[in-house]
Amino acid sequence: RLEIRDLVRSYGGRRVVDDVSLSIQPGQVTCLLGPSGCGKSTTLRIIAGVEMQDAGEIFVDGNLICDTVFRVPPERRSIGLMFQDFALFPHLTVADNVAFGLSGPKPARRARAMELLERVSLAHYADDYPHALSGGEQQRVALARALAPKPRIMLMDEPFSGLDNRLRDGIRDETLTLLKEVDTAVLLVTHEPQEAMRMADEIALMRDGRIVQQGAPYNIYNAPVDKAAVAFFSDIN
Ligand code: ATP
Ligand code: MG
Repeated sequence: RLEIRDLVRSYGGRRVVDDVSLSIQPGQVTCLLGPSGCGKSTTLRIIAGVEMQDAGEIFVDGNLICDTVFRVPPERRSIGLMFQDFALFPHLTVADNVAFGLSGPKPARRARAMELLERVSLAHYADDYPHALSGGEQQRVALARALAPKPRIMLMDEPFSGLDNRLRDGIRDETLTLLKEVDTAVLLVTHEPQEAMRMADEIALMRDGRIVQQGAPYNIYNAPVDKAAVAFFSDIN
């Protein structure tokens, strides 16, 4: 379970993350949805621990992982990451990419990597190098890699935006199925309402650093909070 309380981050006097609070249960997908520049990636980077907040606290399963004085390092937060440009290591095989974040004896790491590769239907590529795979396949390997250490939290920043339209829906659905199986709390960032409608259990609509509306996709779509939200959703067909 991920819990964020009153997160604030300013750049040059401007609050790009302005009092953001969120709570996500295991097995739940929350989409942080909003236009370019509203502060989505900054929020994610703070949760991941690669950037500091000016105020606010973050908890994983009830344990404080950072406030403005205390800070658990990123690699010890039980957080899996998947970003659009979070590329695979080209010099490692597919299986070694998936095993990369694992500790323990090599055979056990290999077995865990193969288990994940089976789940994304790519076990037959285990000993190939990433360049032999299509963009969509590489994306599925990246998902396997992120999930291999059994993270309590998954943070995904526009993970499908590099894929062509034909592939995107299939990979979204496949990703969602796998995320539900592993029972992790997911925070997925997107600027596309369609993606949020398709994937989210809950949408947090963000604008100018603030969450302006939060709820089930159906409710937000049917009762947008204001004219700007109506306009933002209007490009769904
Ligand atoms: P997009 O959908 O385009 O990815 P976003 O919602 O992820 O947008 P952020 O990347 O979080 O937006 O950026 C929010 C605002 O903060 C932007 O105006 C950006 O220019 C600014 N910003 C982000 N990082 C920094 C930084 N290191 N220094 C100064 N300003 C920054
Ligand atoms: Mg961004």
